[in-house]
Amino acid sequence: MSDKTMAFNRRSFVKGGIAAASGLALGALAGCGNAPVKSQAEPAAGGSSVALPDSITMADVENSAVELEPITDFAAEETYDIVVVGAGCAGVPAVVTALEEGATVCCLQKESIVSANGAGASCVAHKYSDPAAVARWTSLWAEENLWRFNRELFKYWEERSDETLSWILQKGLAVGVEPNVCLTGESVYLDGLGTVAVCKAIQPGNQVLMEALAAQAEKDGAVFHYSTPAVQLVQDESGAVTGVVGKASDGSYIKVNANKGVILAAGDYMNNESLLNRYNGDVIDWQPDLINHTGDGHILGALAGGRIAPGPHPRQIHSLFSDDRMFLATPILSLDPEGNRFMNEEVVMTDWNTVMKYRYSADMKKHLYRFLDSAVEEKFPGVATVEDVEALVQGTIEGGGERGSGLGVGLATYKGDTLEELLYNMGIDDPQPFLDGIARYNELCASGADTDFGKNPAYMKAVDTPPFYGIINNPETLSANNGGLLVDGHYQVIDAEGNPIPGLFSAGVNGGDVCGGINWHMPAGSSNGHCFNAGRYTVIYALTGGLTPSKPAKFEDVEDMFRDPNGKFMWDKPELISHDIPRW
Ligand SMILES: Cc1cc2nc3c(=O)[nH]c(=O)nc-3n(C[C@H](O)[C@H](O)[C@H](O)COP(=O)(O)OP(=O)(O)OC[C@H]3O[C@@H](n4cnc5c(N)ncnc54)[C@H](O)[C@@H]3O)c2cc1C
Repeated sequence: MSDKTMAFNRRSFVKGGIAAASGLALGALAGCGNAPVKSQAEPAAGGSSVALPDSITMADVENSAVELEPITDFAAEETYDIVVVGAGCAGVPAVVTALEEGATVCCLQKESIVSANGAGASCVAHKYSDPAAVARWTSLWAEENLWRFNRELFKYWEERSDETLSWILQKGLAVGVEPNVCLTGESVYLDGLGTVAVCKAIQPGNQVLMEALAAQAEKDGAVFHYSTPAVQLVQDESGAVTGVVGKASDGSYIKVNANKGVILAAGDYMNNESLLNRYNGDVIDWQPDLINHTGDGHILGALAGGRIAPGPHPRQIHSLFSDDRMFLATPILSLDPEGNRFMNEEVVMTDWNTVMKYRYSADMKKHLYRFLDSAVEEKFPGVATVEDVEALVQGTIEGGGERGSGLGVGLATYKGDTLEELLYNMGIDDPQPFLDGIARYNELCASGADTDFGKNPAYMKAVDTPPFYGIINNPETLSANNGGLLVDGHYQVIDAEGNPIPGLFSAGVNGGDVCGGINWHMPAGSSNGHCFNAGRYTVIYALTGGLTPSKPAKFEDVEDMFRDPNGKFMWDKPELISHDIPRW
């Protein structure tokens, strides 16, 4: 194995950034203003006893920025209406909304900059949707997640999503961030019920958008403390959360009081090995996309009396680093790094990781090798033309391209006039297992039945028409674990009895478990969309006790961005949109 490959495999867990307290007796914490609510003692390393709630272990804390020992010595103390933990896709909209609602607001951010991800965010355009179709569409997503789905939180997003997306688009435009593209192709037409009009805006990047919004918010009076992770929550005698303790890079502490509410929006826990092992152990071998996402918000909330949603949490494992997105949901032949076919290719990209969990070492999870030929248009109508595929090809040696890195980290589309040439161009040094794998598949196609994996015969299309194309896909990057603290219907964190903890809210992937499924089978763009939405509306609720923005955005003001050059939306042409929820 090359050094490069080893580096690629190595998980980058952040270990023990800040020492956790040990040797604290349960009694020593009782009655202390900053002490988290404790429910159970767990023996700590070294034989001493530190009280932790059921859902948290000492290893979780050691892997995070959270500190257990009560902090009483502060270099500064500030007070705001709203305190937000985390400047990401939920946190920044929370800050901007707080300002818009006339509140004072402070954001503690772990990194020295805003840190946000993704690009696409979606909404349901209610003006153009049929309520019965939306209700049915919701049920189809619930079914897609085996009904382990939080309908209340989904509706919380769906009902407000057009206001939120319109709002964020307009806020973005006001700070000079234009979406790259606005799409309506995720819309569906449900026979007998009507249209669900889904709009999706793809930004140049949420990092760009959130940075620009945060910079403007700062000019408008919001206070951001960068490089200042929240390390503890402040609770009063009743257990109400009244503030947050942040740790500055010089090691000093700042106490930030919140008159109206603390919003935990600290993202997920993909870099906290013990949390990941316990709440989403299936994905421990997959390469995390991010760093420093150590579940601090989950731990802070649990220490304040909240609970982490029972696992497993829906994960987003994306095959981002490839150029064949048009084939992600197309059942073309897939082989593993040893040339073996290993799944029914009807499995969509979102679920590749689940299939691969059982048979493969971390090394074997690294790539998929997928094959098609120049009869693609006839074999998979409507997916791509041969010209589309040609446009992706990078690796013909004759064409001046570079040979792929085969079992290494090459991620691209290649071409060959023969299968041998294709495999060479893909960087595969031992072609025989792949030739055997393709031959076996072609044999099954000729027989008309997939006796190996039971794929629908309609998709059994031989790879037999030169020139041939090969795609190297990377299915292994973990983008998010979408399970957070249990919350009520207003994203207020709930305690063991299901009662909301006064003053404590959680938004983004830190709060709730809207999807509930094994993998994130949800409308495209709803991951970012629900983060924006919950960030915005938790603040409105914390400030007003209701869910009505004082300056609601109107879909009418942005809808033209979603029209095609002929002034049409995709839902104007029901024959062109799906009659079922799109799976990818
Ligand atoms: C590469 C990639 C591509 C994606 N593409 C899409 C897409 O196209 N569409 C889509 O819908 N979703 C997409 N997602 C998923 C989506 O980006 C996430 O679900 C979403 O960004 C989560 O937002 P969040 O606010 O909950 O967390 P984050 O955006 O991760 O924000 C959390 C913030 O909290 C900060 N923080 C952490 N701990 C602390 C602490 N102790 N104190 C203070 N601050 C703290 C972090 O630094 C971070 O800035 C993608 C994810 C990745 C990684």
